[in-house]
Amino acid sequence: MIPVGNSKYILRVNKKKILNLIYDNKSISRAEVTRLIGISAPTVSRIVDGFIEEGLVEEIGAGQSTGGRRPILLRIAAADNYIIGIDLGTTNVYGVLADLNANIIYEEKRPTKLEEGFYKIMDQTSEIIDILNQKIEEKKKRLCGIGLAVAGLINKSRNIVEFSPNFHWHDVDIIGVLGNRFSVPIYFDNVTRVMALGEMCYGMGKNYKNFILINIGYGIGAGIIVDGKPLLGAAGMAGEFGHITVDLNSKTQCDCGNFGCLEAMASGRGIARAARNELERGAKSILVEMCGGDLKKISAEMVANAAKKGDILAWNVFSQAAEYIGLGISALINLFNPEAIFLGGGVTLAGEFLFDNIRKTVNSRALNRSSRDVSLRPATFGLKAAAIGAVSLVMNKLLNLELEHHLSRHK
Ligand SMILES: [Zn+2]
Repeated sequence: MIPVGNSKYILRVNKKKILNLIYDNKSISRAEVTRLIGISAPTVSRIVDGFIEEGLVEEIGAGQSTGGRRPILLRIAAADNYIIGIDLGTTNVYGVLADLNANIIYEEKRPTKLEEGFYKIMDQTSEIIDILNQKIEEKKKRLCGIGLAVAGLINKSRNIVEFSPNFHWHDVDIIGVLGNRFSVPIYFDNVTRVMALGEMCYGMGKNYKNFILINIGYGIGAGIIVDGKPLLGAAGMAGEFGHITVDLNSKTQCDCGNFGCLEAMASGRGIARAARNELERGAKSILVEMCGGDLKKISAEMVANAAKKGDILAWNVFSQAAEYIGLGISALINLFNPEAIFLGGGVTLAGEFLFDNIRKTVNSRALNRSSRDVSLRPATFGLKAAAIGAVSLVMNKLLNLELEHHLSRHK
């Protein structure tokens, strides 16, 4: 006889398998589920009926007959269930309302009040959630949960942001604040890991079991997917790619306190700073004209545009940054042997010009056999990658049945 605890466990495993199968297949019949999972038809039907009652799965018309009655097809009730995804960025707090297929239904953005500190930014986030919540009520849909993407070191065991150099936060408790204001499950994780999860769940990353997403924007980070799972590290802090040292002799200080970090040399701010330093030393460049003489206004985007116009200083600054990024990527390829590397974040919008320069360094630095087949490509969701990733954070919990209790409660 199977002990009660054990049969509960088996039921859970089967439920998870069935839900994921329905999700992966877009539409599938009960008979096909039964055949693929290899458990009895009545058990499959009972579990599926439960999902239908919970509002997670729906029946759609009849499929192709294989002889006999045409089967009713099942699919995830993606359009009835919504997720809020928040990209907690240093420039903007950007929120999206999405269905379970990550189709964006509505979006809302506020310029981040970085100087006013953690609680002000939590207020801004709450405002955005309130507006998105209103849309859900208008459309009479259900909110499954809220996901947030945050730049910083996340301590998984304490469930806090332990240190965020970009926000200047130490030990801040996002769930402690937002959990008191909203009665749905709330999850957060490091922005780059979240982007990688979104890439795996909804983007081109679906095609790979081992890939790395590198975010090059205000800061630099890496989300590493190993055997279809995000690499967390012992305390959840893996992937701090921006803080590896790429120049031992550099006098450029990083937000983390060290000198010569990849982030200090090649992030958006790093590129702008390098150009500014050269100009202050008297170098000639069309950048002076482009920024209207105010060097503080120089951005990485401006440097990229000047480089594309043939400006030598801008070209050199951008190529140098690309070389540092290429050096770091070569190390990642040697360490993790990924199938693909996705590049996302504002700086990567510079396009082929940046990719070509990175490839050049990777081709000369990475061990040939492992670098040869790595596809280096833009991240699927561009500037929406962090918000879509935050949506996938909740979707992942849903597919792992971690929201079960909450969803049945709101039935
Ligand atoms: Zn650093």
